[in-house]
Formats: sequence, structure tokens, C-alpha cells
Amino acid sequence: MAKAKVFVFAPADPTGEAHKMLEDAGCELILGKANWDTPQGDSELEMMKLAEGCDALMGTSIRSTTITQKIMQSSNKLRVVSKFTIGVDDVDTDAATELGIMVTHAPTESNWGGVAEGAISNMLTLIKKTRERDRWLKTTANWRNLDYQGTYVGKRESDGYPGIVIGIIGLGRIGSRIANLMRPWGMKMIGYDPYVPDSKFAEFGVERIKDLSTLLRQSDVVTLHVVLTKETRHMISAAQFALMKPTAVLVNTSRGFCVDEKALIEALQKNKIAGAALDVFEYEPLAADSPLRKMDDRVLISPHMISSNLGSGLKPGLLWGTRSVISALKGEVPDNVYNTEVIAQWNSRFGGKNILA
Ligand code: NAD
Repeated sequence: MAKAKVFVFAPADPTGEAHKMLEDAGCELILGKANWDTPQGDSELEMMKLAEGCDALMGTSIRSTTITQKIMQSSNKLRVVSKFTIGVDDVDTDAATELGIMVTHAPTESNWGGVAEGAISNMLTLIKKTRERDRWLKTTANWRNLDYQGTYVGKRESDGYPGIVIGIIGLGRIGSRIANLMRPWGMKMIGYDPYVPDSKFAEFGVERIKDLSTLLRQSDVVTLHVVLTKETRHMISAAQFALMKPTAVLVNTSRGFCVDEKALIEALQKNKIAGAALDVFEYEPLAADSPLRKMDDRVLISPHMISSNLGSGLKPGLLWGTRSVISALKGEVPDNVYNTEVIAQWNSRFGGKNILA
């Protein structure tokens, strides 16, 4: 029997464990140029060539070329596109469903929990002016500087200070973990997510806000945790920045395209908001000449690695994504299919058909 072919479009397996699992299962691997730390990768045309005759595609989100209909059509045997990170916004899932291909992803706690911790850390770094104070001491011979006073975040019982207002957009895994972690601070947390029930807001101590504009008007920190969809693309643009308090900061760890980057730069330049912490950008890697790289301490940027922590990071997702590929190649439906509507059609084509040696 010919070996099953797997195109790993964005390898991120420094120990080789996942690749060995696939090779031991009898797969031939084709490795793309993209890597987690060098995300440019192959062009669509190159990926179409590499995907020819493949049974599975797998990789991370962090690269320039998305998985298009044309790439998936390069092989009439393709069973699965398996992501080992969270989110399938970089896969044309509608086309996959039409072509009868399953799309899976790997929302591991090490990834989403890491984003929540990182988003809080960035939020506090900005509003506590941590970098400014540090630089002040390292670059001058001076001592205290009242320009670098921070913001008291939580509620105080002693004098009735209510704390700041944190606005969470998207109360999924990451948004609700942030609420859970911040809750003991006692500040007001408000949230906007039309797709989760009231009970979830109540469970995490977040006041439900029915419209985004009200959340933007009320929040001192706006933190974005939505999936990227047609609806959430540029959901924060010039009109939304105009509603925010001039003292407010925006934290974006979701997807670059959820925020209109040009409008954000303008809002910062015109002091419409006080700051932004960004782990994600419209185009990654962030261009060397992006104005965001040159901005002062009002902007805190990181190279889409907010959830990358020692001993966790991508590895659990990589192994989950690999297991999904192996299941699909065995003719079994993996446990984390995104486009579940394709399963019946998929089963009639591939169900029970094991192509692993
Ligand atoms: P999730 O699916 O658990 O939660 C997303 C939430 O967004 C859902 O509750 C959904 O109802 C809500 N939502 C959808 N459309 C909305 C809208 N129009 N308005 C308000 N809410 C809306 O996803 P998650 O695991 O919490 O991940 C959230 C985001 O973080 C995703 O975009 C994901 O890709 C991104 N992410 C980034 C990194 C990183 O390294 N920076 C890592 C992991 C995930």
C-alpha cells in the first residue's frame, strides 16, 4: 500500500516527537517552509504543489499563507486539515465543508490559558507603567517621577474606590479565564458576546452588555478575545475608537484583523486612546517599517507568542493535532472537528477506511 502523505505546512516540532508519531504510523511527511519562528512560509502556488496527492495537511496559524480552496483542491484524497493551534480563521472552512474535508484545531489549556495570563500581564504592564519606571532608573541618575504614576486596578473597601472597568469582548475560553483570574481584584467586569448564555456571564462575574458601543464607552481596559469571522473583522475601527475613553487602553491578543490597524495607529497618534498592547497584527510578521515598531511606551507589542511558555506552549496542541491526523487517516472522526456539518459526508467517503500501513 502507498504511504499516506501528510503536508506539514508550518512545522513547529523542535523535538521531532510529532513527526516521529506520523512516520511510525507509516506516513510520508512533506515539510513546508514556514516555521513557528520564521512564519513567512510558502506561497499559495508553492503550497498547491506541495499539497498534491496529500491525505492530510497540518500546521500552526502563524504563517503568511492561509489554507485556501485551491490548496485543498490540489488533492482529491485530502481527508483533514489539522491545526495544532486555536482558531481556523486561516482555513477556508466553507470550502473544506463543500469538498468534504474535516477541519480540526487544538484548543489546549496551555495555549488559551497562556493567552489569558499574557493578556493580563500586558494590561498591567501598560497601566502600571512598569517599563517607564524601569527605563527611568536605568537611563537617568534620578529617583521618583510622578509622570510614571500607575492606575489602581482593583476595588478598595477602605475608601470606596470602585476600581477600573474591564471590558471583555468575547467570553469564550480566554475571555472567561481572564474574568476568573481578575475576579478577586474586585473591579467591575463587563462583557460583550452575543453568542453565550446569560448563565456564563453570571458564572464568571461579568455584567452582560448587550451592545458593543456601551462596553467601549464604559471601559478603562478593552480586551479582545473573539474568533476572527466576517462579523468580527475590523470590529474595532475608527468609529469604535471614537467611543472609547481617551484614558482607555486596548489589548488585542485575538487576531490582527479584528482591529483596523490603520485606525488604531491614528487613534494612538491623535490621543483618542491612551495605549494598546498587541500580540497580533493584520500581517505577520509585523513589517520592519510598521509605525507600531516605532511608537513610544503607549504601545506594547509582542511577536504573536503570548501563550509561548517554557514547558507548555504549542507542544500539547501539536500532539493533539497529530493524533487528529492519525485518526482521520485510520478512517475515524477526530474528537475536535470544527466543521461538524461535514462529518456525515466525510464518513460516507472515508469512514472505516484505514490507509495507514
Ligand atoms: P473561543 O471560541 O472559546 O471564544 C471566542 C468567543 O468569541 C466565543 O465565546 C464567541 O461567542 C465570541 N464571539 C464570536 N463572535 C463574536 C462577536 N461578533 N462579538 C462578540 N463575541 C463574539 O476562542 P478562544 O479560545 O477564547 O480564543 C479567542 C481568540 O484568541 C481567537 O481569535 C483565537 O484565535 C485567539 N488566540 C490567539 C492566540 C495568540 O497566540 N495570540 C492563541 C490562542 C488563541
